[in-house]
Amino acid sequence: MKNHTKNPIVIAIDIDDFLTTMETSELHKKEWLDPVHHSEKHFVMAEFTHHDRDHKVENLLTPGCIEFFQFLFDYDFIRPAFFSSGIRARNIDLAKKIVQTAIDAGGDSSWMDRYDVYSREDCFDTERLKYDIDEEIRRKFQPEHFFGNYKKDLRMIYYGREKYHELCEKAFEDPSVLLPDHEKDEPILRNLVMVEEDSSYLFPGQEKNMLLCPTYFHPYTYLINHQGEDTPHDPDDWRDKFKGANTIFYAAGVLNHAIERHCREKLPITEILWQEQGTLWVGRKRYQEWFPIHFFTKGRDVLRKYNPKLNFAVASSEPGASLK
Ligand SMILES: [Mg+2]
Repeated sequence: MKNHTKNPIVIAIDIDDFLTTMETSELHKKEWLDPVHHSEKHFVMAEFTHHDRDHKVENLLTPGCIEFFQFLFDYDFIRPAFFSSGIRARNIDLAKKIVQTAIDAGGDSSWMDRYDVYSREDCFDTERLKYDIDEEIRRKFQPEHFFGNYKKDLRMIYYGREKYHELCEKAFEDPSVLLPDHEKDEPILRNLVMVEEDSSYLFPGQEKNMLLCPTYFHPYTYLINHQGEDTPHDPDDWRDKFKGANTIFYAAGVLNHAIERHCREKLPITEILWQEQGTLWVGRKRYQEWFPIHFFTKGRDVLRKYNPKLNFAVASSEPGASLK
């Protein structure tokens, strides 16, 4: 497939509660772990130094995570990026280990040189806007309904970290430096995508860049690899954890569709993301329509190319059939 824009499409991906979860202690108590989703390679130890102290934090890759990176790296015009509001030292170590796992699963060693890592210090901290700045201007740095302090401003990727940090320092004094400006920002943003499960990180004006995904949740009591070719989601059961457990399948399904349309129709990928899912979540009222189920099914087809055993992660009250 050819990308007509010449520039790479950068896909900036959230880490916590999307690619990984730190909720592992309950799993370790279990006598059985699913071999497809919870094998040894899915448990990744982030090792880093912060404030002169060494840290080791165990992370579990969410279902489909390794295959998701194989899928993204397979397009030579895509440059994946990790963008987490966690600290940089942790993100760098974790990202390297995730990419290495994707390489070990059948990828190419050149992938190690084809991704970026962005962290808390690369976010725009709205709390640092000067105290006497007008409330009306301050609101322009918040997406509607949200008050969180850190924003993932994708223009940072375009400007580069150093230049963007300089712009931030200026903007804290004079917000006009980085106020959202549709006309000026559109060409900057058209090849940048943010995959995120928490819309409070959205920088206003970058709604079209956002692929909002479900927040990851373990299905309990046991997470097992689904046996069957259906898409086992029950919209009438409020306890149904299908969407949360399979958030990566959703991202893969939407991105595959958006990339195909982008190559065929020569539309900016941001425009396609907006048409396909942005209009559903942005108003917040159409909650029932968020995360259309057919994208999960499509995502399974896409990710399975890299692992034929891969299926949805679903809940079971007892360990998986194969090891009973
Ligand atoms: Mg997150």
